[in-house]
Amino acid sequence: MRTTRVPISPCPQCGAKLDAATHVNGDQNKVPDREECVTICINCGALLKWGVGLILEPLTVADMGSIPTGVLGELAKAQRIVLDMRLERRRGNFRNN
Ligand SMILES: [Zn+2]
Repeated sequence: MRTTRVPISPCPQCGAKLDAATHVNGDQNKVPDREECVTICINCGALLKWGVGLILEPLTVADMGSIPTGVLGELAKAQRIVLDMRLERRRGNFRNN
C-alpha cells in the first residue's frame, strides 16, 4: 500500500482533519489525483469522495450507484476495519502509534 499526502480537509461526518490517503488496490500511483475518487475517513469510517480542490465531501446514494460492485465490496471491508479499530480504541486495546 502507498500513502499520499493531500491538502488538509475535514471529514464532513466527524470533523477529523485528514491529510493523507492510502491506496488499497489498483494503480497505486493514482491516489487521489483527481476529483471524485472515493475514500473512507480513518477516524469514523464515513464513506467520502474527493471534491473540487480535493476537499472531502459525503458520498451520496447517487455516487454509490456509479461505483462498481467490486469497489463497493472493498470499501465495505475497509470501512469494517476502521470501525473495528475505533471500537478497539474505545476499549483501550489499540493505539494510533
Ligand atoms: Zn470522519
